[in-house]
Amino acid sequence: MNVAFTDLKRQYDIYAQEYESAALRVLRSGWYVLGKELEAFEKRFAEYVGARHCIGVNSGQDALILAVRALGIGEGDEVIVPSNTYIASVLGITENGAIPVFVEPDEYFNISPDKIENAITDKTKAILPVHLYGQACAMDDICDIARRHGLYIIEDCAQSHGAQYKGKMTGTFGDIGCFSFYPTKPLGALGDAGALVTDSDELEQRLRKLRNYGSGKKYVNDLEGVNTRMDELQAALLQVGLEHLEKNNAIRMDIAKRYLDGIKNSAVTLPRTRVGATNVYHVFPLMCGKRDELQRYLEENGVRTLIHYPIPPHMQKCYGRLGIERGALPIAEKYAACEISLPIYVGMPDKEIEYVIETLNRFEEGTE
Ligand SMILES: *Cc1c(COP(=O)(O)O)cnc(C)c1O
Repeated sequence: MNVAFTDLKRQYDIYAQEYESAALRVLRSGWYVLGKELEAFEKRFAEYVGARHCIGVNSGQDALILAVRALGIGEGDEVIVPSNTYIASVLGITENGAIPVFVEPDEYFNISPDKIENAITDKTKAILPVHLYGQACAMDDICDIARRHGLYIIEDCAQSHGAQYKGKMTGTFGDIGCFSFYPTKPLGALGDAGALVTDSDELEQRLRKLRNYGSGKKYVNDLEGVNTRMDELQAALLQVGLEHLEKNNAIRMDIAKRYLDGIKNSAVTLPRTRVGATNVYHVFPLMCGKRDELQRYLEENGVRTLIHYPIPPHMQKCYGRLGIERGALPIAEKYAACEISLPIYVGMPDKEIEYVIETLNRFEEGTE
């Protein structure tokens, strides 16, 4: 049997009629940028997460870049970020000339709250927690540290749409929450899109200008902004996706439960969820000391997997200039060497889920 890592077509097919009528509505409207579809999506998404404002942009990466910029963080400032995140979290900092300060993750793959304070200096301006793989970070501890040290919080929610900590949505704990709607994310567009959420009227105004050349009023530019607007087509398609987000999250959480109940192999460690947090399982991560061997074995048996992520940011060539040596962040490096992600997506057939479990349970180290 062949099991794809993900298959967007299967998810699309479930909701095809709704997507197609939303798309046609936009195509026939004669209005394609900054119109009523974006307004409607922003309003609904803000309501969904429980924030006062939502500002739609072109990608999760742009949301992160604008969040850092809107808070006035730039040259020489430091921002605390987990050492095992996807590179985009870090690029959001360095694109503004600020310096990423890496803090190691805990056993839940999220930034370790008890290691944050040691990383704070007089240059620190913000903490940028990432709700990695779909699991909410320990936000009460992180908010407490930020409050005591007068730091901003920018949440990277690119993988955590709908995930909560103690009943509160990710994205609403900090000053700004940043979302990606890349097609594979828990809430995905059919192209690139992203958004920021905030409760601050002042940040909202600044972000609306920053995404539109720095202009609030046509041809009047208050700030040096960029062009990163979510287009009307994506905004219409995302309204369809948002309608089904809770259901889609429940489908992935159910697959995760079947993996957690069914996988019994001492060669792998299953992911755990922190008490108080929910996990929407954008990714289902396993840890395995013989990761490469396991990946080859699964591949040979038709099961496609991915590594999230094979090279931690501090070891990427582009960040060689930061001068962080191999071995300096051993937990992130260990995760990069041992993590393997199983297929988990809306539309994944039951028999494929079962096949993944059976195949994994048959894996024996060293008998390839
Ligand atoms: C996907 C992702 C991003 C970037 O989002 P894009 O929309 O692809 O630019 C940022 N951070 C994390 C953790 C992500 O997974």
